[in-house]
Amino acid sequence: MISHNSPSYTEKVVAEGYKQLEMGNFSRRHVSYKAEVAFAKFTNSLHARLVSSGFAAIQAALIAVGVQKGDEVTIPNITCPSVYHAILSIGAIPHVVDVSEKVPLIDTKVLKMWNVKKFCLIPNMFGIKAEIDSLEFENIIFIEDNAQCLSPNRSEWAKISIYSFSPTKILTIGYGGAVVSDNENLMKRVALFLDCDYHLSQTEESNSLPFRIHADISDFQAAMLMGQLERYESIISYRNNLSKLYDENLSFSRINSDVPFRYLLKLQQSNAFECAELLQSKFISSVPLSSHLLSDIFDLPDEYPNSYFWKNSVLSLPLHEGIEDTDLKYICKVINQCF
Ligand SMILES: *Cc1c(COP(=O)(O)O)cnc(C)c1O
Repeated sequence: MISHNSPSYTEKVVAEGYKQLEMGNFSRRHVSYKAEVAFAKFTNSLHARLVSSGFAAIQAALIAVGVQKGDEVTIPNITCPSVYHAILSIGAIPHVVDVSEKVPLIDTKVLKMWNVKKFCLIPNMFGIKAEIDSLEFENIIFIEDNAQCLSPNRSEWAKISIYSFSPTKILTIGYGGAVVSDNENLMKRVALFLDCDYHLSQTEESNSLPFRIHADISDFQAAMLMGQLERYESIISYRNNLSKLYDENLSFSRINSDVPFRYLLKLQQSNAFECAELLQSKFISSVPLSSHLLSDIFDLPDEYPNSYFWKNSVLSLPLHEGIEDTDLKYICKVINQCF
């Protein structure tokens, strides 16, 4: 079976983690602090805090910007269900809007049409960056979800950004995530929110936190993160080469060019689920653009026509460092013959 996704790492990355484990470095200490400096630098930001998952990073970011119990947070219908649950988990309410007809993301036009709330969490889905004209939204606080879009550039509209290092993302350390911002006060709130053991000096700010979470990573994971970040360029160029080979060998177009996270095939008919089944029977694992829409999972009452269009007419093909040229040529042959 050719997998759609697979965690990628090298012996060196594993050795970096192992070295820390051998020294007994299981807690969050100096290697984690060093990795936070490295990650802030990588994202061209002033501050970064590593956490145990993208989920925890979303919780921390929402609390940091002041989302309170009962507040609504705007998110797109096409995103990872854990985004929805992270919002619920802090007592807030997800406000789910449709995506654009031009890209399977939210943009300025969609947000105006759906009456964006004061807090808006925007995932740069599939590695595609959402185009938001922040001048159009003066009083809206935007949180950027880069779980699928690991790049050195954060969006100018983002007050705070989150990342995930889960096994299905561009680079992984097992499970893990990060919160990143240039705003020192926001990052202080993040630190307090994660301070379950009351190590930090408590301020008035502490009392405004509804609760706290324990979501640290270990030094051995932090060491792996630094190893993975060193490989960043090579990971991206491997994926870009695969994409180029797909481009050359397939008689189909893709919806996202120059994005290394996913290879998204634009189908001629809205039959993504049939196509995925067909590929499955030929031992190729693929995923319809969004196999689950939030509106399906959570049985939402609104209409989301654009989401349904994207869900059925785009297929995501295997794209990771485990794919070799021969696998890719086989995948292209099957697609060109069968679709
Ligand atoms: C994976 C993902 C998350 C959650 O990250 P975890 O580290 O798995 O908790 C959040 N948002 C998006 C868009 C994701 O793809």
